[in-house]
Amino acid sequence: MNKMKITPELLQYCREVRRHLHRNPEISFEEEKTSEYILEELNKLGLQGKRLAGTGVYTVIEADQPGPVIAVRADIDALPVQEKNDVSYASTVPGVAHVCGHDGHVAVLMGLAAMLKKYNNDVLGKVILIFQPAEELLPGGAVSVIGSGLLEGVDSILGMHLTTLLPTGTISLRSGSLMASINEFCVKVIGRGGHGSRPHDCIDPIIVGTQLVNAWQSIISRGVNPLEAAVLTVGSFNAGTAANIIPETAVLKGTVRTLSEKVRERIKNNFLKLTEEICKAYGASADISYENGYPVLINDERITNIIGDAAISNSIKLFNMPRPVMGSEDFAYYGHVCPAAYFFLGAGNVEKGYVHPNHSPYFNFDEESLPVGVQVILTTLERLWAEERKNA
Ligand SMILES: [Zn+2]
Ligand SMILES: [Zn+2]
Repeated sequence: MNKMKITPELLQYCREVRRHLHRNPEISFEEEKTSEYILEELNKLGLQGKRLAGTGVYTVIEADQPGPVIAVRADIDALPVQEKNDVSYASTVPGVAHVCGHDGHVAVLMGLAAMLKKYNNDVLGKVILIFQPAEELLPGGAVSVIGSGLLEGVDSILGMHLTTLLPTGTISLRSGSLMASINEFCVKVIGRGGHGSRPHDCIDPIIVGTQLVNAWQSIISRGVNPLEAAVLTVGSFNAGTAANIIPETAVLKGTVRTLSEKVRERIKNNFLKLTEEICKAYGASADISYENGYPVLINDERITNIIGDAAISNSIKLFNMPRPVMGSEDFAYYGHVCPAAYFFLGAGNVEKGYVHPNHSPYFNFDEESLPVGVQVILTTLERLWAEERKNA
């Protein structure tokens, strides 16, 4: 166990990769230079990278000894945000920045690639490293990765996200539901417009819309078991142009988050029924779009426990999350294909000022966390291989 030793050079290497990407961010589905750079870096390590899902990359590290096929995934996209950090490696692209830490995710995966190449004799079976595009934008790059067939025959997949909510030297995770599903809706209420003084001649879409907003909240408060988590937020309600005109239409947009597919389905069914019936009751009609975003991210219990043990065995603090979070991740799709596990890697540091949350224009993280991420994944792999040897 633990033959693969992390050295100070690994931090240096991960930092270089991270800073290069941080200077040169690209948004979802447009990661052209990012994937070129990843291909070049893999090449320097003596690994052959291949294009995947448009602007993604993957590489396979194959051992002489047969064994499990394990995939590890990093997302590679940046966000349309103007960075406000004054650092030597700040984004050089106006309005685009790595403020979700995906530059760090690539650095961890590249560090892992370097380690697996160096200790190739210890590898069992196959490790597939996936540099996935477009996590930040629906439908999410994971869908295309799965569609490419790359995961056929894969026994398990690992993933992680940097967070400044935890200090460096800590990871957090839980088995079962870890992150929420997203749905997004847009409802156009079609009424009949007219003069504000003659409501009896009109069908007022604003009145219908306000009834909808209230009724939708009752789906959560009356239709969902109070011990289950669910959120429905109407984030946009647009109608009308003047004080004395009843408009023709009103458009309402919102998001729904749940932690179980059962609750997700139930809310969707109630939403569609209620919306149609209420509109009908007022003599209006509705154009409804109700789109599925990412599903609930479910962590496989066995692999989750192995990741936790891997952290502890390296004196990395483990925080067992009592509850899931209502954020979402397209990594969730991988859990539908094979056992999957995802953890949060602490990268916060109050003294160094790494306290800003993901997506903030001031987001930055402690690079000392990068080799910690490599170590956790490496030890997890070693433990999965050890289990395989035991069962052989
Ligand atoms: Zn993000
Ligand atoms: Zn992210």
